[in-house]
Amino acid sequence: MPKRTINDLTDEEVRGKRVLVRVDFNVPMDDRGAVTDDTRIRAALPTLDALFARGARVLVLLSHLGRPKGGPDPRYSLAPVGRHLATLTTRPVRFVTSTVGRDAVQATTSAAPGTILLMENTRFLTGEEKNDDALARQMAELGDLYVNDAFGSAHRAHASTEGVAHHLHPAVAGLLMDTELRFLGDALADPRRPFVAILGGAKISGKIDVIDALLPKVDALLVGGAMACTFFQAMGLETGKSLVEPDRVDMAKELVSRAKDKLVLPNDAVVAPSLDAGARAHDVARAAIPAGEAMFDIGPGTCEVFDRRIIAARTVLWNGPMGVFEKPPFDRGTRAIAEAMARATAAGATTIVGGGDSAAAVDALHLASRMTHVSTGGGASLEFLEGKVLPGVAALDDRRN
Ligand code: ADP
Ligand code: MG
Repeated sequence: MPKRTINDLTDEEVRGKRVLVRVDFNVPMDDRGAVTDDTRIRAALPTLDALFARGARVLVLLSHLGRPKGGPDPRYSLAPVGRHLATLTTRPVRFVTSTVGRDAVQATTSAAPGTILLMENTRFLTGEEKNDDALARQMAELGDLYVNDAFGSAHRAHASTEGVAHHLHPAVAGLLMDTELRFLGDALADPRRPFVAILGGAKISGKIDVIDALLPKVDALLVGGAMACTFFQAMGLETGKSLVEPDRVDMAKELVSRAKDKLVLPNDAVVAPSLDAGARAHDVARAAIPAGEAMFDIGPGTCEVFDRRIIAARTVLWNGPMGVFEKPPFDRGTRAIAEAMARATAAGATTIVGGGDSAAAVDALHLASRMTHVSTGGGASLEFLEGKVLPGVAALDDRRN
């Protein structure tokens, strides 16, 4: 069921109102408290602008930051994020040291029109992750309507992402949330074909459900990363010291036989005696991985095969790096995929990147702007691709019409 978005709100529903907006400002910071990557903050700006453009009086922002354990911890205060936000907008930004309660509500009602209030980290409250109903009710007092723009947190049923939506209406999706759901949703529901998915990363175990869900939908599933090694073992190949999940070998066997020629595994590998022995990296056929070495990237032959598949596709979905891209020279496969996708975008294909590390890789290569869509939600995009219902989305109002 499609969800209402801020574009579906009537003027009466938003004009002059305090809008409670759940954003995902869970951004990386250095030890001096400076935000080192503000992608997620920038991604929320269109929603904030749109709400003011619709006549909202005050915006009240809720977010979590990091994983504080059992209560307030100054290391996880959102105060520095508020200072950073202030540099990105002309609106006055005020940080509120409480998250809910009398002072917090007072701040929302007394703020000058046009103000953005950023409340302290929702995870300082023990009820947040427990989706405590009393806390959700307190959060609902912070606004006159609720907007969820935190796609990256939508797979968690927490008080600020799920519970609050039961107590505050309208409860609608923000523009970022809507964009994410549209790109990922359309790709899965009605992809232009050929539809090619590329999966990589460290562990097959975390992505089995994605493989399961994608296989019936895609025309080809290209597999790289350490995941490929578990498949190699299933095929009876030597995998040396590569990262293999022995308890998933049977499942990999079953997938190989079920997927038939949809599944495209690497035909060669970049191997080395260890991660720190990049200087001794060399290419081998997949059947020739030395017993004392490990696969750290897909090989050049595989890059070519994957490149051809990507260029010929009309929809490309990528999750998971092809190798240990953090450590050159094992970044080449990941770079090759990102570059092929950028070319595919230019040729008219829809290209989508999901997954925290994959998005970081595309960013580091300065290719993010050359993809149709780079998801801001790592875990959330994975669960969405698995076909799971995201609780933060499910709780929002259904679109009437
Ligand atoms: P994403 O966050 O995009 O979903 P994952 O978290 O599943 O991706 O996987 C990313 C990690 O996988 C990276 O840290 C990368 O170093 C690792 N990785 C990829 N290929 C290999 C490999 N051949 N051996 C060991 N680690 C690998
Ligand atoms: Mg990851």
